[in-house]
Amino acid sequence: MADSFDAIVIGGGPGGYNAAIRLGQLGLSSACIDKRGTFGGTCLNIGCIPSKALLHASERFHEAQTDFAKLGIKAKVDLDLPAMMTQKTKVVGELTRGVEFLLKKAKSEAIVGEAKITAPGKVEVKLPDGKTRTLTAKNIIIATGSDVAPLPGVTVDEERIITSTGALALKSVPKKLLVVGAGVIGLELGSVWRRLGSEVTVVEFLDRITPGLDGEVCKQFQRILTKQGMSFHLSTKVVGVDSKGKTLKVTVEPAAGGAQQVIEADVMLVAIGRRPYTAGLGLEEVGVALDAKGRVITDGHYKTNVPGIWAIGDCREGVMLAHKAEDEAVACAERIAGRAGHVNYDAIPSVVYTMPEVAVVGKTEEELKAAGIAYKVGKFPFSANGRAKTIASTEGFVKILADAATDKVLGAHIIGPEAGNLIAEVTLAIEFGAASEDIARTCHAHPTLTEAVRQAAMGVEGWTMQM
Ligand SMILES: Cc1cc2nc3c(=O)[nH]c(=O)nc-3n(C[C@H](O)[C@H](O)[C@H](O)COP(=O)(O)OP(=O)(O)OC[C@H]3O[C@@H](n4cnc5c(N)ncnc54)[C@H](O)[C@@H]3O)c2cc1C
Repeated sequence: MADSFDAIVIGGGPGGYNAAIRLGQLGLSSACIDKRGTFGGTCLNIGCIPSKALLHASERFHEAQTDFAKLGIKAKVDLDLPAMMTQKTKVVGELTRGVEFLLKKAKSEAIVGEAKITAPGKVEVKLPDGKTRTLTAKNIIIATGSDVAPLPGVTVDEERIITSTGALALKSVPKKLLVVGAGVIGLELGSVWRRLGSEVTVVEFLDRITPGLDGEVCKQFQRILTKQGMSFHLSTKVVGVDSKGKTLKVTVEPAAGGAQQVIEADVMLVAIGRRPYTAGLGLEEVGVALDAKGRVITDGHYKTNVPGIWAIGDCREGVMLAHKAEDEAVACAERIAGRAGHVNYDAIPSVVYTMPEVAVVGKTEEELKAAGIAYKVGKFPFSANGRAKTIASTEGFVKILADAATDKVLGAHIIGPEAGNLIAEVTLAIEFGAASEDIARTCHAHPTLTEAVRQAAMGVEGWTMQM
């Protein structure tokens, strides 16, 4: 086995494995190293994939319990949590093995072990058997991802005080679940356990859920989740947890300080965010610069300050999303191969996989206002969409924002059924520099949810027809 490559990729997540695949396609040799034991990173092992498997299963369970009767279906359903978890684990196994197959196909050597950069162009890998292997390459790509941000003063045991990883593997349904953090991960996993029967309380430091999302979407989203049975304590912080008794006693107080309150819970999920992970990589020794948040600093082409060392994905700046890591992987590999790889950060969608889903791309109204950009808005509710009616899922709306002068699409904000799939059309429009009129004049199949996107686009120029 060769120990010298065109590139060494550290991390086998969506950033790392896609970089290795693209390098292979471009005729460059690589090794892809991950210490986890299986490939696919956070995303496939303990992130996107297991969470979506549980979201899907719990949604079907909830639907069968509450919505089937409305459709004229009588059903009595019972929860088999171990079987649900087995199905999730099966999906994860199939996909992580799939990544190994893809790496092999790209002629990238998949190495299980912990990597450390000992000099530019040199990586030492601690193998599972305790031996060390030294690899060399002209290029090193850091794709080591991120890890859960801890809550100061709170010790995670992954049984009663858990992170997202524990929330994907609970052995029983907690009677009372306290979620700390109303971001995407907290709300998705809170939804899973709510549907399976938990009483879910969410504590959020800020005065709104899913900060960063369009304000109007946030308000409707919170209303819907509240109707589903979640309760929210906004502008509130956790100041301590007493775990001595049978139930956890979680002390909270207003974010600005004030009277304390104790919330009892069986399980507490800490979901206050994620932080870049670069521990033990040897970056300080090699002189790779990090920013104040611990992210690897790169230029627009993913080069760090040390020649031959690159960084992509969650460990550098930007949204922590699998497809952002994937796009950076492609662009970085292309740059290494001497091509002009590039990522359009205005066209990166973001999805919350709750029911209904929330999906966004591009700018929010708040951002456009702050930037002084004049814009027009087109909006269409799912309650007026025929397909949404037939599937009994009429909550939410599509909102499209376009430049007031040029009509160029600047953003889209969707809350409603299949929002995560619907956003792809507007993402493509932004990527192509399309106008809202391009969407409005494109024929959309009937009856589909995509017609709501078209009607919203028509609304930008004031000619929504079906409302
Ligand atoms: C519960 C949850 C749900 C999520 N859902 C979604 C979703 O629906 N959609 C979405 O887009 N994103 C989602 N994410 C975020 C997504 O998982 C990350 O954005 C994505 O995995 C980042 O990819 P990456 O390649 O940068 O890093 P990672 O996937 O974190 O991979 C980095 C890998 O590097 C390895 N590594 C680190 N240091 C070393 C070392 N020294 N030597 C060897 N290996 C090392 C780690 O073991 C890890 O496997 C979710 C995350 C979580 C936690």
